[in-house]
This record gives sequence, C-alpha cells and structure tokens, in this order.
Amino acid sequence: MTRYTISLVNGDGIGPDLANSGQILLEKISDFSGIKLEIVNVEAGDNALIKYDKALPDFSFDSIKKSDVCLKAPVGESAADVILVLRRYFDLYANIRPAKSYPNVKSLHPSVDLVIVRENTEDVYLGWEFPIGDDAVIGLRLTTTEASRKIAEYAFEEALRRDDKKSVVCVHKSNVMRVGDGMFSKISKDVAKKYPDVDFSESYVDACAMNLIRSPQKFDVLLTTNLFGDILSDEAAQVVGGLGLAPAGNIGEKFAIFEPVHGAAFDIANKNIANPSSMFLSIKMMFEWLASKNKNTERDSLIDLAKKIEKTLISLLEENVKTIDMGGNVHTDEFTKIFLSKLIS
Ligand code: ATP
Repeated sequence: MTRYTISLVNGDGIGPDLANSGQILLEKISDFSGIKLEIVNVEAGDNALIKYDKALPDFSFDSIKKSDVCLKAPVGESAADVILVLRRYFDLYANIRPAKSYPNVKSLHPSVDLVIVRENTEDVYLGWEFPIGDDAVIGLRLTTTEASRKIAEYAFEEALRRDDKKSVVCVHKSNVMRVGDGMFSKISKDVAKKYPDVDFSESYVDACAMNLIRSPQKFDVLLTTNLFGDILSDEAAQVVGGLGLAPAGNIGEKFAIFEPVHGAAFDIANKNIANPSSMFLSIKMMFEWLASKNKNTERDSLIDLAKKIEKTLISLLEENVKTIDMGGNVHTDEFTKIFLSKLIS
C-alpha cells in the first residue's frame, strides 16, 4: 500500500482555517481509500516569525524536505521569506494556475477552462533592487534560456495532457523588453515546432489581459513569465468567480508544493467565512501530481481521488451550497462538513 507524507503549512490570516479544512479532507481520504496519508503540520509565516524569529524555521524546512509533497495554506506579510525560499530550494520551476467556470458561480463566461503556466524562478522575483542615491532604484529582471525552455516545454506537455482545445499562447512584452522577452518568445517558438498537434500563438501581456475579460473561453494554456503570470492568474481567478476557487501548484522535477493562489486575506480572518474550495482544488492538483509520479497500480486510484474532489465540489455548487464570496451564506466549517459527507456518499 502506498503511503505519502504530506507537510501541511498552516499559514496566517485565513490560512489556519483552510489548512484545517484540508487536513480533515486528507484524513477522511486516508481512512476510506487505499492511499495512506500522514500529515505533518508545519509552522511557517508571520506567526512563526514572531515565535521563532524566522518565517521558515529550520525544523519546519526539515519537515518539508522529509515529506513527499507539501500543501501550503496562505502566509501573510512574510510570504516571500517562505514560498520564494522553498521555490528556489526545490527548483519548483513551474507555477500552474488553472481557472475554470463552475456551476452557479458568477463567471464572465460559462465554459472557461484555462491554465496559466508561469515561470516560477526568475524575473523580478529575485528581488535584485539597488538604490542609486536617494532618488532612484535600479531593478534587475533575470531571464535565462534554460528556465525559458523548461517552462515552454512544460506548457506544451500540459496542453497535451488536457483533453480539450490543445493550444498554447505565449504571453510576453517583447516590444518593450526586446532582449529578455524577445528571448522568451523565440524559445517558445522553437519549442512549439516539436509539438505540431498543439496550436501556438503569441500575445502581448496587455492584449492578453483584455482578452481574458473579453473572451476567456478561447484560452487553453497560457505560457508566461513570473510577474505577468502572477497578475494574469488573479485576473483569471476573478473572471471565473473569485480567488476562493483558485488553486495552484509549484512543480519541480522531484518535489511540488500545492497552495491556494490567494494570500492570507486578513480582512476575513477568524470569521469562519473563508472559502476552502481553493484548498480542496489544490489537494485535487496534488493527487494528480502524485499520480503522475506513481508507476504502480495506485496511479488510477490517485486520479480517481482527484476527480472525486472536483465532482464533489460541483455537486455542492449545483445545490447552491456556497460560501459568502460565491454568493451563498455557508460558513467554512459547515461547507467542509457538507463536502466530506458528499465525498463519502
Ligand atoms: P497577496 O498580496 O498576498 O496575494 P492580497 O492582500 O492581495 O494578498 P488576498 O489575500 O489574496 O489579497 O485576497 C484578496 C481578497 O479576496 C481578500 O481580501 C478576500 O476578501 C478575498 N479572498 C481571498 N481568498 C479568499 C477565500 N479563500 N475565501 C473568500 N474570500 C477570499
């Protein structure tokens, strides 16, 4: 029987509520399925910073390193000291952010089903900013051929894995950043030649932002750089009903971290009103990733679990069981309880 150790970062703001809902779901799955899950709670973020003077204490880092996969609830002000460090350490080069319309959730179009494949290790996220005297700052933006090629290949493979439109749009701003984004664009075109079954096109980021509002249903896979991917994925989440339904995966060759797209949402913390769907869908993505790494017979069970999670969410939404952000009035704990009862029945 396959056993997985999952490190679960509790986070800040609405993080602990979401981590709690995620943990209950994982424990249930471990009880009723043939897949055994050991959950290790990990302290990281603002609370850890206050308690241990470090947002990602060494013992937390060690627990994550020892686990098979990490599930992370949102972290507050110290997010960069947690997730950026982890992305770099594990070389989680691909940030995968799906956006999909679900029943009874306000979406700009009823059949949106796209995924943003965002380069996750370079660009302005290295934090290379240098003051020049008191009145100016120089900021550096890194783009390498290696990272650009890896993320382009991931995007085309992702398009093949998906069973719908099979298209990749490479999003950049090469008319302004002619050298860096020019290189990103050229590499995506080179990689496209190896995938004749996938439609390929390019878009400047500003036009893409507009088209995401105008006709989001036309997109399949969006391949883009780190900062543009961050911004476009919040937009895409809002297009299909808000951040409460937005999951993400940070994927490397050997390790992955799954987390809601959104931040700690302090405005709704400690009110029991956060939407745990972003965490449930992150768990769905986690099972899909574990399935992709599993070569034995349990692969199908892992895929089934992923499908079951999404089907359960759809059935709740069809019955108008919704948290406040989705236009309903169900609280986090109640939503989680109903979700579990539907999952098992
Ligand atoms: P960050 O910069 O870290 O991404 P932020 O301050 O921009 O964070 P988020 O925490 O990402 O904001 O969320 C923006 C708003 O979306 C929140 O203030 C909250 O109202 C809403 N929101 C986000 N996540 C959820 C959720 N899971 N359930 C309900 N509402 C949410």
